[in-house]
Amino acid sequence: MKMIDIGINLVNKRFSQDVDEVVKRAINAGVTKMVVTGVSVENSQKALKLVRQYKGTLYSTSGIHPHDSKSSNPQQLAIIRELALEKEVVAVGECGLDFNRNYSPPNMQEECFKGHLEIATEIQKPLFLHERDAHKRFMEIVSDFPNLPKGVVHCFTGNTIALKAYLNHGFYIGITGAVCNPKMSYLQEFVKYVPLDRLMVETDGPFMLPKNMERFPKNRRNEPAFLPYVVKMIAQCMGKSEKEIAEATTKVAEEFFGI
Ligand SMILES: [Zn+2]
Repeated sequence: MKMIDIGINLVNKRFSQDVDEVVKRAINAGVTKMVVTGVSVENSQKALKLVRQYKGTLYSTSGIHPHDSKSSNPQQLAIIRELALEKEVVAVGECGLDFNRNYSPPNMQEECFKGHLEIATEIQKPLFLHERDAHKRFMEIVSDFPNLPKGVVHCFTGNTIALKAYLNHGFYIGITGAVCNPKMSYLQEFVKYVPLDRLMVETDGPFMLPKNMERFPKNRRNEPAFLPYVVKMIAQCMGKSEKEIAEATTKVAEEFFGI
């Protein structure tokens, strides 16, 4: 079984000591390609540097997370754009809106998000999107950009209304270990409505440890090698085989990111 982890924060400090082993374990678990999420200018630069050491296995994104958007400015967005032009960088983002925690004021989140949408429109690389408790504004903003490239709403944890709106808009859906969390069991119902040609899987490690693991790692850190647990849960929800989910999501991710 071959899988692609489309969202892994490998430059997060929790991976600083053992990234090489993490990548090896992932490959042994069938996770043959990974897209390293960039969440700030510095982090996107580090991500690019890292993925160049694992050509053909690791790819990266270039973006400023809504949490960090308060520190964004035109100069920073210019660097995000430059990075996004590199061939190993396969998406613009992560970017979007997070009104759940509002670590940055909503108006600054919106400015930063629009900046990314402009870059993506110009260079036509896919968008890696984040949305939490901001569905309405998110849809209004993306609707103002008629020539957006394709986009994936990563770590989807919204409701059916949001899911339908994203699918209708042509977006892809990224599902993490959140679907394995009994406290978010509504996602197990929703995931059935995602067509297989729009579905991708991700760990969002070090976060979102899948709750369906037999044994949790001592450090409670999620990593790409645990992606099969996400695939397993989706397969159960959809009444399909794990192989079928792995194959379909791999094909979608390869085409989506051109990897
Ligand atoms: Zn996110």
